[in-house]
Amino acid sequence: IYILGIESSCDDTAAAVINNGVVLSNVVATQKIHEAYGGVVPELASRAHQQNIVPVVHEALRKANIDKKDVSAIAFTQGPGLMGSLLVGASFSKSFALGLNIPLIGVNHMQAHILAHFIKTEEQAAPNFPFLALTISGGHTQLVKVTDYFEMEIIGETLDDAVGEAFDKSAKILGLPYPGGPLIDKYAQLGDPDRFPFPKPKVGPLEFSFSGLKTSVLYFIERETGADPEFIEKNRNDICASIQATIVDYLMDKLKNAVKKTGIKEIAIGGGVSANSGIRKALNDAEKSYGWKTYIPKFEYCTDNAAMIAMVGELKYKQQMFSSPDIVSQARMKF
Ligand code: ATP
Ligand code: FE
Repeated sequence: IYILGIESSCDDTAAAVINNGVVLSNVVATQKIHEAYGGVVPELASRAHQQNIVPVVHEALRKANIDKKDVSAIAFTQGPGLMGSLLVGASFSKSFALGLNIPLIGVNHMQAHILAHFIKTEEQAAPNFPFLALTISGGHTQLVKVTDYFEMEIIGETLDDAVGEAFDKSAKILGLPYPGGPLIDKYAQLGDPDRFPFPKPKVGPLEFSFSGLKTSVLYFIERETGADPEFIEKNRNDICASIQATIVDYLMDKLKNAVKKTGIKEIAIGGGVSANSGIRKALNDAEKSYGWKTYIPKFEYCTDNAAMIAMVGELKYKQQMFSSPDIVSQARMKF
């Protein structure tokens, strides 16, 4: 069976083909237009999706070396995400399914970030149930207890900003372009993580809060650049390393709490921030220090991609979990 996956929840238009857990193609068109605005502009995102979706799907089918008539079912992101962006993927997928008379499968984007671990790769096996998933992305920060493919329970989440936002907003304060997460990571690798201590917000053991960190970074930078206008240029690597270390430590603290509470030591991360070198290293170290078994997705399956949507599509296809043609996109969506 060949599943075509479509992802259009935010600012990446993506299509992928999967066959038996193996990715045959994984095409992403990232929208550059938002950089100029320092964040995603929803109206511009949906327009760009409209322009990109047909060429991106053609490219995915071509790279997978299949014809559209070979597609067994189409899976698309139902939510959560930006409504105008979601609608483009949903409308395309409904027409495609109707035109070819194949099943339509709606997919939860946050579930997909977790189930991306079931994509077959040479590097790593899939996690064993039950496992703990830490989803860290641009819009979410969640600790999820995963008992089966579609049995997931959120045991903790952020009370305010997502961790990706904490990276991006800190980067913005430092004058870095959007999205700044990957740039903080890049400079952090050259800096001293202990140089500038930032406080870790105190909330419940499985809860997260990042808005205070953003404010501390802002006040710190305002104070220091007041004294020396070139403070950022002179100390960029150390500032980035310190911010990143604070965030990574905080995430690891929460994971330790979750392991303690659930007794589960299979840990999988997902979402765009799992591309971060600091969290990857901390998790690798935790295998030795705490005897955890950790799972880190391949880089291209961390940030938004359609391979993960196709993967969930295949799992649902096997369980005959099909959607009706009147399925509705959801900006906010529970599991
Ligand atoms: P959601 O999945 O919650 O709907 P999203 O789809 O916008 O949000 P993703 O694409 O999963 O989010 O992740 C994007 C986020 O990941 C951005 O905030 C980006 O800065 C961050 N990010 C990507 N790479 C890195 C990195 N190496 N270090 C830190 N943050 C990173
Ligand atoms: Fe995402």
